[in-house]
Amino acid sequence: MAKDCIFCQIANHQADAKIEYEDEDFIVFHDIKPSAPVHVLIVPKRHIELADDLVEWEAISGRILSIAKRVAKKLGIAESGFKLVMNCGRGAGQMIDHLHFHLIGGWEKDPGLV
Ligand code: 5GP
Ligand code: ZN
Repeated sequence: MAKDCIFCQIANHQADAKIEYEDEDFIVFHDIKPSAPVHVLIVPKRHIELADDLVEWEAISGRILSIAKRVAKKLGIAESGFKLVMNCGRGAGQMIDHLHFHLIGGWEKDPGLV
């Protein structure tokens, strides 16, 4: 756990979040500032950063996709459609260094660009 990381704190239940899914390795919770009608974050509980070894990434990538599908179903956007977005680096808008994916959807018409 990284001491000052808000996602580590949420994963450890030391900070509040509206949780939609949790298992031993992952937690999914609603984004505090949603940019779509449905906007949750899929977060590995371990503090993984962009600079970390690719082996770390390979271990979680398949799980991320299956959890995305499962949570999309739960939130009613599996049929209507959803995006899975990862901001990599400050230049792409990444604010929290703890690796995470945005699962977004629920638009009635045009999703626009994210
Ligand atoms: P990034 O820009 O790093 O890809 O995305 C970080 C996301 O985390 C942002 O969409 C932001 O709104 C969300 N976020 C930041 N702090 C908190 C928090 O304390 N709780 C929750 N639920 N989401 C947060
Ligand atoms: Zn962290």
